[in-house]
Amino acid sequence: MDLGLQGKVALVAASSKGLGRAVAEELSAEGASLMLCARGADALEETAGGLRSKGARVETLAIDLTAAGAAEQVADAARNRFGQIDILITNAGGPPPGPFEAHNLETWRAAVSLLLETAVDLARQVLPEMKERRWGRIINITSIAVKQPVDNLILSNSIRAAVTGMARTLANEVAPFGITVNNVLPGYTRTERVVELAEALGKRDGITAQDVVKRWESEIPMHRMGEPKEFAACVAFLASERASFITGTSITVDGGWVKGLL
Ligand code: NAD
Repeated sequence: MDLGLQGKVALVAASSKGLGRAVAEELSAEGASLMLCARGADALEETAGGLRSKGARVETLAIDLTAAGAAEQVADAARNRFGQIDILITNAGGPPPGPFEAHNLETWRAAVSLLLETAVDLARQVLPEMKERRWGRIINITSIAVKQPVDNLILSNSIRAAVTGMARTLANEVAPFGITVNNVLPGYTRTERVVELAEALGKRDGITAQDVVKRWESEIPMHRMGEPKEFAACVAFLASERASFITGTSITVDGGWVKGLL
């Protein structure tokens, strides 16, 4: 299937590692040019170098997306290099784990800034030009927590629901302009973030991180964690020309973990 991504420009947020990096790899394999950003310059350059060695056109900006004006700076860097942005993938690191009583108001505000405000501000940066060209793709990386809350992740469970509400509403507002807005919900997928989570939960429950992973795998109908590449394939399809009539959806990539009907 030709995804029609040749010559498109994708801004992939938080893309030095994990799911963001896998999405960048998949989009560049389909011929898209890439604007990558993340906090750590070294990991970002390593990821960009790997992509360039395969012939990809890549621009990078090391930046904390929660800093004032960061979304604008990333979008400007993309436009300076490539002239336009066709595809936006919003993403950021996960908020800290823990139950309700573990978090003060400051932690809640930081999580809102990380998960909701970064997605809103990045969308604000790209929408005017997408509307003008009457073509665009906005895809938010959220979590299975939106469909079924995950124990010990109250910040993620709460704030990603707000991202979903924003995206569902925005999808209808911009549909007449040929812009689609969708969310892709990773289940347990083998990235650095998940290793950290396993360690935190292991500490809480007095077991090893490996035992935590085994427990997760026993809850997944496929009895294994996902690979970032499997997640990225879904994002690349939604970003493609072929997904032109799919908007306002939240699609899980979780090996069957969410037990609901929809
Ligand atoms: P990861 O820790 O492997 O990678 C996170 C990336 O985000 C890194 O490139 C990091 O530099 C960047 N980043 C973090 N905070 C940033 C900031 N403030 N500004 C700019 N860049 C920032 O994480 P991952 O597993 O790829 O997860 C990505 C997102 O998906 C997270 O929000 C995570 O909670 C969510 N998620 C992941 C899983 C999973 O199993 N991997 C499951 C559900 C949800």
